[in-house]
Amino acid sequence: MLELRPSCEHCNKLLPPASPEARICSFECTFCATCASEVLDNVCPNCGGGFAPRPVRPVTDWKGGNHLARHPAVTAVKHRPVDAAAQAALVAAVGGLPPERR
Ligand SMILES: [Zn+2]
Ligand SMILES: [Zn+2]
Repeated sequence: MLELRPSCEHCNKLLPPASPEARICSFECTFCATCASEVLDNVCPNCGGGFAPRPVRPVTDWKGGNHLARHPAVTAVKHRPVDAAAQAALVAAVGGLPPERR
C-alpha cells in the first residue's frame, strides 16, 4: 500500500495526507511540489525517476473500509536534504530524458 509520508525529504515541509503539494516517485520518495520541480528538476535523487502528484486517500469510508483512519499515513519523517552537486550530476546523467524513457 502507498506510504503517505508526512513531509518533504528535502525541505521538511509538512505534507499531510490531503496535501495537493505532495509529489512521489514510484518508490514513494516524497517531496513538495516546489522541491520536485525547482530543486530536483523532476529527477528523484534516490532513483532517478520522475514525480507524480500523490493521490489523496479518502477520509470518508465510502466503500469497504478503504479510508484514511483504517489505513493511516505513516509518521516516520525522512529528512534527507539533497546534496546539490550530487543532484546536478544525476540530472546531467539523466540528460533530459522524460520519465517514461529513463
Ligand atoms: Zn520540499
Ligand atoms: Zn525515487
